[in-house]
Amino acid sequence: GTMGDQDSANVKVVVRVRKFLPREEKRGAKCLIRMDPVTQSTTLLAPDHVDPANSQTKSRKIVEEKLFTFDKSFCSFDESSPDYAHQEDVYCSFGEEFLDHNFNGYHTCIFAYGQTGSGKSYTMMGTPEQPGLIPRTCEAMFRRIDDEAEENTTYNVHVSYFEVYNEHVRDLLMPRTDPPTYLKIRESPADGVYVQGLTDAPVKSYEEIRNLMKIGDINRTTAATKMNDTSSRSHAVFTIHLKSIQHSATTSDTIERSSRMRLVDLAGSERAKATEATGQRLVEGGKINKSLTTLGRVIAALADPRRHGRPGTPNSRAGTPTGTPRKGGASAKAEVVPYRDSVLTWLLKDSLGGNSKTAMVACISPSDYDETLSTLRYADQAK
Ligand code: ADP
Repeated sequence: GTMGDQDSANVKVVVRVRKFLPREEKRGAKCLIRMDPVTQSTTLLAPDHVDPANSQTKSRKIVEEKLFTFDKSFCSFDESSPDYAHQEDVYCSFGEEFLDHNFNGYHTCIFAYGQTGSGKSYTMMGTPEQPGLIPRTCEAMFRRIDDEAEENTTYNVHVSYFEVYNEHVRDLLMPRTDPPTYLKIRESPADGVYVQGLTDAPVKSYEEIRNLMKIGDINRTTAATKMNDTSSRSHAVFTIHLKSIQHSATTSDTIERSSRMRLVDLAGSERAKATEATGQRLVEGGKINKSLTTLGRVIAALADPRRHGRPGTPNSRAGTPTGTPRKGGASAKAEVVPYRDSVLTWLLKDSLGGNSKTAMVACISPSDYDETLSTLRYADQAK
């Protein structure tokens, strides 16, 4: 139906390959990725294709060249190539469009998916010299707020930062406690699904956001060193809550708009495979697997044009601040889309589907056939 088509246009799946790390160069790793800037396709080459000397062993399982097509295939492999995808190119391809959507009163959600070391945090955060999606989006947001401040509109920005680990939610803006403090998830008609007691910090500039992210990342890594690198096994959700109040020039009427931007650094996808896992690891593996598989199914359901749903309205309410609950189309979809199957998707329900825009950035390494194939398949079924 037409409503489904609208949703599918609101879901973007892109892939980005990073360049070799020094250790990969040292072992003479071969590049297994070919991207076509015209068709936006990504081809995963069979290792044997690159290195025929290895193909003699009969018992070797046969691996083939695999071709996938995405909304975008970003090649960040060779900086001297004219097709090299810079941080700015990634931002321009959908970051800007997503920010416009937020200013119009709709939610957005950007996920970084991939094995640990594939470039998720480079793409989301980047480095001081090469800032990623998050700093670029925040800077553009505050620039816009400053520009529009004089035009009868006031803005309010709050941020929160939490992590989902083993289907538990932890506030990353609060110091870590021992034993860990887990927050409860609640649902109310007025607020939808929310984390009870989560810090919601008011911010006035990107500097303030950056400081809060730093605190959150320190809290996340402190936990990680104590518990065997949990950071690659947890999903980190950074939320920017943008509220605007527009005053009428002639009357005392106001229009309030409220939207959320979710920026999600997902757990390393290699943990989704429970092969070598035992004990605690196995439990974690299963739970991470569950969040990642459910997320894949949710996004696939949203991108499926055959699925039926009701379009939402912008998250605005005119006049009275005690207006009707903001609902969007999410409630109509609850039956079809398996949001409730994992904590992550349940919490992000309002930011997925309806009139929200969702992007999944699948990050891949240039020379890891098995992990890359699994990431490309995941991204492919999500589109
Ligand atoms: P992840 O967050 O998936 O574990 P990182 O973002 O930390 O992975 O990336 C691993 C390493 O690769 C880092 O040193 C990072 O700076 C580098 N890297 C990742 N993506 C790129 C890229 N597109 N261009 C240059 N270096 C990159």
